[in-house]
Amino acid sequence: MNVEKVEGLVRELLIEIGEDPQREGLVKTPERIARALDFLTAGYGQNADTLIHGACFMQETTSMIIVRDIEVYSLCEHHMLPFFGRCHIGYIPRGTVFGVSKVARLVDMYARRLQIQERLTEQIAYAISNSINADGVGVMIEARHLCMMMRGVEKQNSMMMTSSLLGVFRSNLATRQEFLSLVARPSV
Ligand SMILES: [Zn+2]
Repeated sequence: MNVEKVEGLVRELLIEIGEDPQREGLVKTPERIARALDFLTAGYGQNADTLIHGACFMQETTSMIIVRDIEVYSLCEHHMLPFFGRCHIGYIPRGTVFGVSKVARLVDMYARRLQIQERLTEQIAYAISNSINADGVGVMIEARHLCMMMRGVEKQNSMMMTSSLLGVFRSNLATRQEFLSLVARPSV
């Protein structure tokens, strides 16, 4: 990202909304926004293969593994406003499992792009499924969208839930129910 160019665009934007970019409190704002955007969209410069590479290890288990309450912060692609919440991931391995921190970094990688919640959920599920050839994967995200809360319909308490179920999570009712009951349980 060309930080200086983005700073110039933000200065123009400030003028268009009726502000004075030379005002004391705003002088450094274009630079701050450029740096924040650079961080919040860093996921474009990463890919799942590189990120996951070396983070998987062999383990003879076919039990369900759940990582829940992973914090998610993303920007909606329609308004570039934040949506944020929690992501729960479950998978049944076929001999290869993930390091827990890598699962969280995978979520960050896809979240740090302009997103819609449905696609974010699917991308995480497919990345996990493809990289370790899992028997099944379930991903659920519950999030609040500032574009709904602050503008338009102003629904402050609405929560959007999305889920993506692959493999046995889709075909086997008992597996799906086990996943859903484990992620629905209140946090400890
Ligand atoms: Zn939006």
